[in-house]
Amino acid sequence: TPRTLDAWLDEQAAAFGERPLVITDERTISYAETAEWSRRLADGLVALGVRPGDHVGLLMANELEFAPLKFAIARAGGVAIPFNYLYRQEELAYVLEQSSCRTLITMTGFAGLDYPAMLDAIAPGWDRLPAAPTDEPAPPLDALPELAHVIQLPNGGAPRDGVLTVEGLAALGDAHRGASDGARRAPDDVGDILYTSGTTGSPKGVLVTHDAVLRTAHGSALSRAFEDGRRILFSLPCYHMFGYVEGLLAATMVGGAIVPQTAFDPAAYFAGIERHRATDILCVPTMTVALLEHPARERHDLSSLNAILSGAAPAPVWLWEKVQAELGVSEIVTGYGMTETGGAMTLTLPEDPLAFTSETVGRPKIAGAAGLDAGDGPLTEYKTIDPVDGRDLEPGAEGELVSRGPTNMLGFWAKPEESALAIRDGWIHSGDLGRVREDGYLQITGRSKELYKSGGELVMPKEIEELLSAHDAVSQAFAIGVPDDRWGEAGCACIVRHPGAELDADQVIELCKASLARFKVPKHVLFLDADELPTTPTGKVQKFRLVRLAQERLA
Ligand code: ATP
Ligand code: MG
Repeated sequence: TPRTLDAWLDEQAAAFGERPLVITDERTISYAETAEWSRRLADGLVALGVRPGDHVGLLMANELEFAPLKFAIARAGGVAIPFNYLYRQEELAYVLEQSSCRTLITMTGFAGLDYPAMLDAIAPGWDRLPAAPTDEPAPPLDALPELAHVIQLPNGGAPRDGVLTVEGLAALGDAHRGASDGARRAPDDVGDILYTSGTTGSPKGVLVTHDAVLRTAHGSALSRAFEDGRRILFSLPCYHMFGYVEGLLAATMVGGAIVPQTAFDPAAYFAGIERHRATDILCVPTMTVALLEHPARERHDLSSLNAILSGAAPAPVWLWEKVQAELGVSEIVTGYGMTETGGAMTLTLPEDPLAFTSETVGRPKIAGAAGLDAGDGPLTEYKTIDPVDGRDLEPGAEGELVSRGPTNMLGFWAKPEESALAIRDGWIHSGDLGRVREDGYLQITGRSKELYKSGGELVMPKEIEELLSAHDAVSQAFAIGVPDDRWGEAGCACIVRHPGAELDADQVIELCKASLARFKVPKHVLFLDADELPTTPTGKVQKFRLVRLAQERLA
């Protein structure tokens, strides 16, 4: 049955009351506390002037307050826009403006960033917007005329005097108890605008409904065979589909809890797993590699840990073998999805062989009805099409992956052309290349934007990356095309070696020559340190920036 996010939280609070929902080292909040806190905050938001459909930005790391605030926005009838909190000033100015943000809830400081100072530069006068209910609308700010209210969480930087705090917002709610009662929205209304990662260019605001994210989270809990009370530890940000849907919302499906980390630190992961008896972790492959390479692992009791969900990029089979052997994790699941599809649309199953987890991204999630016991077929349909003429391809043939289903986005906020390109006849066009195997398992073979042409021949980076990743000395490998006068684009292998491992450029070229057609053999080899890789805050390697880095190094 479709539900809104706030109605779902209330139901789970009625069922699981005092069980923990969010666990941090400092404090734990239960389902009942989260529901009550979000109600106070929602009353405060409505008293302040938030109206149904208003855009409410949330600039918040994985703090304890994230969940209560997120559900409060839903309960107040608002559309939540959880922003990437690592954005620098220009990027933040872009999304604040582009998203038509009317109310902004922001941290004061995080990871050396001073948000009040950034806002001073972006929209002078933001700290004089009304901090209490008023009948006299304030004169609009020159820079962000739609911004009407700012609320701050004083967490690591001085709060600005006279600006409403999150605590003050809850107190305002207490003075206007019940203010949000009439604000409810429908499950098919947009509940979130989530920005894409910006792996291939500027981020786009994806319009997703309440029902879509709850459905994907539910399908995930079913496919991952969640039993009662899982505890999911992750540092992936809750503003992104991965942390939000596969972490926070998935945990609520079984009365489980999240153990959010505000940054990725392997030692803190291990300490957190031990201390809070975490059962699950969420990772992208670069994180998994870092966990395996970190010595702190041996000092902790990781016996509670049983499952890992990996996503965002493919990972080689050796990595999963090591995870099993060295972290004692038995359920290794990998998934594939995009912000545009409301989170992961395919997952491997916990019982699948490791080779499946490495070579495929699984099959469609099961669409469940109410309760975790019922499954009624796949959540999404997908197929591959010819990227040029749009014709459907036979199963097994490689092409652009397109999908449709009830969790699809409604479009991109204020980007009509991009929306029309992304959704055609109800099918989401992924820009990803893949093939559907006969057993229905999906294989992702690359992104259409990342293919390059060397000497007129089209090169698939993934084939080269797989070959190089299989080498003992290689921790991570990426193949990119860099502009080249002679070849149009010249292949460049970017390699991160395991600590202490030896491998030189000639050996890399020899290895490629032995197994690849000549035109695929990279012309350049670049060795990098893991921390030099340009990534999005979710840990995805941004190849368009890697190309620039390679150009600089090779020049
Ligand atoms: P942008 O659209 O702004 O360039 P993005 O596509 O990285 O950024 P997301 O929506 O966060 O933004 O990521 C979805 C993309 O991540 C997919 O389209 C796919 O390319 C990639 N992806 C996700 N999971 C996997 C996986 N398991 N294997 C390979 N690629 C994956
Ligand atoms: Mg994308």
